Amino acid sequence: LFRQETQFLKGVVAMDGLPPDDRVEICFAGRSNVGKSSLINALTGRRNIARASNTPGRTQEVNFFTLAHLYLVDLPGYGFANAPVPVVQQWQRVMKAYLGGRANLRRAFLLIDHRHGPKPVDAEIMDLLDKAAVPFQAVLTKSDKVKGADRDRTQAALRETLARHPAAYPEIVVTSSETGDGIETLRAVIAGIA
Ligand code: GDP
Repeated sequence: LFRQETQFLKGVVAMDGLPPDDRVEICFAGRSNVGKSSLINALTGRRNIARASNTPGRTQEVNFFTLAHLYLVDLPGYGFANAPVPVVQQWQRVMKAYLGGRANLRRAFLLIDHRHGPKPVDAEIMDLLDKAAVPFQAVLTKSDKVKGADRDRTQAALRETLARHPAAYPEIVVTSSETGDGIETLRAVIAGIA
């Protein structure tokens, strides 16, 4: 699957701009700075297909990519410190509309920084995913940055959190875009969804 080229299709800010739901779709979500752009670039083998959008308050776009018969969707990062209330509300509206309204959405990948483990904002999006009945799988990022006991601790915390969410898959994918660790595993998981 990933031997084929990923193409950027469009970025949308409103739900009426979504492409038709004629392809199997997967999406990527996570706190800002979690390493989402880096992971999408590593997965697709394209250096800058997903650009980091680290500016709080910037237009919160949902970016669509095509890969063979799939749509890959990059959701706006969340959890900006001190984000203005209207920005947070807009993000919540977009996420609820998107997650609740995509019949072709097969799985969400929820990215969590391996150094930090799950945060309350991650649990909030897990609640949204549960409510929308979107199956989701956790992906730990930046695993090159954690060793030994810290690894075990954040993974255990994540497993515990996932166990409370009915839409969660129990399997966690551990990745590093820096070393390439887990990238093939995640590609295989995605190939298995189609
Ligand atoms: P995004 O805001 O979620 O799209 O995050 P980015 O992909 O822009 O990454 C945020 C920061 O983390 C950047 O400085 C990246 O270089 C760094 N980063 C991303 N992935 C990794 C990783 O696997 N390992 C390490 N060590 N740093 C990473």
